[in-house]
Amino acid sequence: MRLVLVPTPIGNLEDITLRALRVLKEVEVVACEDTRRTGLLLKHYGIPTPTLRLDQHTVGRARELLAPYAYVAYATDAGTPGISDPGAELVRLALEWGWRVEALPGPTALIPALVASGLPTHRFTFEGFLPKGGRERKERILALAREGRTAVLYESPYRLQRTLEDLIEVYGPDHPVAVARELSKLHEEVFRGSLREALEHFKEPRGEFVVVLGPKGVPAPEGAGLAQELRAKGLHGKALFRALLEQGVPRNEAYRLAMEAKGDV
Ligand code: SAM
Repeated sequence: MRLVLVPTPIGNLEDITLRALRVLKEVEVVACEDTRRTGLLLKHYGIPTPTLRLDQHTVGRARELLAPYAYVAYATDAGTPGISDPGAELVRLALEWGWRVEALPGPTALIPALVASGLPTHRFTFEGFLPKGGRERKERILALAREGRTAVLYESPYRLQRTLEDLIEVYGPDHPVAVARELSKLHEEVFRGSLREALEHFKEPRGEFVVVLGPKGVPAPEGAGLAQELRAKGLHGKALFRALLEQGVPRNEAYRLAMEAKGDV
């Protein structure tokens, strides 16, 4: 049993490898997030292989859906399956079933955005989509800022402004950013400037976006001293734990300090 992850173009139909085309031709079925979208790609290249829908809602039934086949390709809507899409779950399952899993190199949105950003590329972190809201979102942004590496985020047009605003809160308005829009498509654009300028530039965001943030390297606050101050203000247990998180103390350390103080969180 063999599963091959096949990267597909993120905008320009020419961005597909010869090997990807060969595999799409020789497999028994192309499982894909969207049969219409992948169908158009196959049609463009004259590939008659049948398709089968396998998206985030059906990936849980993958074993049953793929049971009739021994040689399967998986393609997501665009880019490399497994990066911020159901591909990662399919790989996990296929390995569990003892399938041979191969990943073809090919298009993905994060790498062109990173290398075109003009920001340091020797160390970077890929965050994908930030959590939509709540404490976890703030914590992730704080953690990114502390890492001291270039950070790559995916974002939808509906949330881009809110994300830039939230990033400004932690990184500051003058922090360098590149926002790549509609890569490899007709309206491709890479905006380079500060976070505040990006927010002004993308007043009515349209299309698909990758946000690349320059490294910040905010030192993590010194947890023990902070915990002492907060304890003096009467915070203990869960309240202390939450206050430490809000101040940007890493979760593990906040938990340890709150436990030390009270014995329960
Ligand atoms: N697996 C894909 C990959 O390898 O890049 C990513 C899938 S994720 C569901 C879709 C997100 O990727 C979009 O919301 C956007 O952030 C980014 N993206 C995909 N195509 C893009 C493009 N042409 N230009 C800019 N960003 C793109």
